[in-house]
Amino acid sequence: MTSASQEHETRVVDAAPKKLYINGQWRDARGGRVLNVHDPSTGSVLCTVADASPEDGRDALEAAQAAQKDFAAMPPRKRAAILMRAFELMHERQDDLAMLMTLEMGKPLAEAAGEVAYAAEFFRHFAEEATRISGGYQTAPAGNARFVVRKEPVGPSLLITPWNFPLAMGTRKIGPAIAAGCTSVLKPAELTPLSMLALAQVLEDAGAPPGVVNIVVTSSAGQVMEPLIRSGIARKLSFTGSTAVGKKLLEQCADKVLRTSMELGGNAAFVVFEDADLDQAVEGAMLAKMRNSGEACTAANRMFIHRSVIHEFSEKLAQRMGQLKVGRGVDEGVQVGPMVDATQRDKVKELVDDAVGAGAKVVVGGETGPGEGYFYQPTVLRDVPREARMWTEEIFGPVAPLTPFDAETEVVDLVNDTEYGLVNYVYTNDLTRALRVAENIESGMVGLNQGVVSNPAAPFGGVKESGLGREGGDTGIDEFLETKYIGIAM
Ligand code: NAP
Repeated sequence: MTSASQEHETRVVDAAPKKLYINGQWRDARGGRVLNVHDPSTGSVLCTVADASPEDGRDALEAAQAAQKDFAAMPPRKRAAILMRAFELMHERQDDLAMLMTLEMGKPLAEAAGEVAYAAEFFRHFAEEATRISGGYQTAPAGNARFVVRKEPVGPSLLITPWNFPLAMGTRKIGPAIAAGCTSVLKPAELTPLSMLALAQVLEDAGAPPGVVNIVVTSSAGQVMEPLIRSGIARKLSFTGSTAVGKKLLEQCADKVLRTSMELGGNAAFVVFEDADLDQAVEGAMLAKMRNSGEACTAANRMFIHRSVIHEFSEKLAQRMGQLKVGRGVDEGVQVGPMVDATQRDKVKELVDDAVGAGAKVVVGGETGPGEGYFYQPTVLRDVPREARMWTEEIFGPVAPLTPFDAETEVVDLVNDTEYGLVNYVYTNDLTRALRVAENIESGMVGLNQGVVSNPAAPFGGVKESGLGREGGDTGIDEFLETKYIGIAM
C-alpha cells in the first residue's frame, strides 16, 4: 500500500514543470535534450527536465531584452503587486514546494518548508522596497545648476544560483530584479532545477509578464552562460556559488563591463569565549553547523573554543549531534538528510579522513551511511591540527571541527587567517569584548550570540574572496539600479 507521503511525492514530481520557461512559454530544449534529476536519499532518478542549449539561452536573453523597456516603465506599485501575489502563492503552495525541494536536494521537509517561507519573504521585502526607490534634487555648490539624481533599472540581468538553497537563492535575486524593473534569465543548479521551475510557475500565476523572468536549466552551464555574459545584451550578472566559479565569471564579465554581485564561498569561524553561556553557545553551534546539514556558505567551518571550556562544550555538542536522526528528508522526525550527491559526500569523507590522519580525535560520527543515499553522520572532531585541510576548505557537510585557543588576540588572528570573509560567529557575555571582536574580524556579517544571521531585511554578503555586493536589506535593490545624474543649468 502507498503511504500518504509516497502519494505526495509522486503527485508533486508528476505535477512539477519540466520544461524551459522562456518568454512566458513552457518549451522543450531545441534539439530535445533532457537531463536527469536525482533523489540524493536513494540515488534514483526522479524525473527528466529539458536541458537547454546555447541557442535556448540566447532565446531567453532576447526575450528578456524585448521585455525590458515596458517592464521598466511598469508602475512600481504594479511590480510590487506581482511580488506580493507571488509571496502569497508560495505560502499557499508551501507543502508542495517543500516536498519538491526535499526530493531533489535532500534537506528534511521541515527545513524545506522553512526555506519556502524564507524565500517568499524576499518577495514581500522587495515588494515593499519597489515603491521606495528614491532620488535627489540638489543645488550645485556654485549655485549655477541643479542636480537631479534618479535611479534606473540596470537592464537585462543574468542570475546564477547554487543547489543548496534552491528557492531562496533565486528569490533573493528575482525579488530585487523585479522590484527595480529589471528583466532576467535565471540558471539554477543542474542538481536542483525543479524548485526553480515551480517558482517560475508561481511568478507566471502571479502575473509576471512574458519575458520578465526566464528560466534556463542546463547541463552545460559554461557553454550556455558565457555567450550570454559576453553578448552585450546582458547588463548585470548576479551569481551565488563557489569562489572558483565566481572568479571565472568575473573575468568573463570584464569583457562588456557588466555590473556584478557575487555571493561566494565562506569559511566561518565559531568562537566561544570562556565567559559565554555554554548552553546558548551549543544551541547556536547546532544552528550554525547543522542548518542545511552543513551545506551552507554560512556554516560554521572552524570552531575555536576557549581552552577552559572546550571539554564541556565538546561533550555537550557531541551529545546533541549524536542524537540527530539521519535519513530521507521526507520521513517523519528526520533532522539530517543526505548530502546532495556522491561527490559532496566523498569530499566530506576525504576532509574528515585527512583531519583524523593528521591527529584529530572523533568524538562522535566520522562515518558515511546509512543506506543507499549520500549520507554522512553528524560528526564532532577534537584537537584538529592546524595543518588539516578542513581549516582552509569549505567542509559543506555535518562536521564540526574543534580546536582550543587561549587569548582574544590569538583567536582574532585565527579567525582572519583565511581568504574568505562571509560570516563569523562570536559567543561572549562581555559586551565590550563582543563589540571589539566584531569590529576586528574581517567578514561582511557577524553573529553575536546567535547562530543564524540570514534575514531578508538585513544586508547579506561577504568581503575578501567571499564576494562583492549585498543581497537583501535596504541596499539589495541597489544592486539592480543605476544612478543617473541630470545636470540642469540655471
Ligand atoms: P558552483 O559549483 O560554483 O555552482 C553554482 C552555480 O554556478 C550553479 O548553477 C552552476 O551550474 C553554475 N556554474 C558552474 N560553472 C559555471 C560556469 N563555468 N559558467 C556559468 N555557471 C556556472 O557552486 P555550488 O557547488 O553549486 O554551490 C556551493 C557554493 O556556493 C559554496 O562555495 C557556497 O559557499 C556557495 N554559496 C554562497 C552563498 C552566499 O550567499 N555567499 C550562498 C549559497 C552558496 P551547475 O549546477 O550546472 O554546475
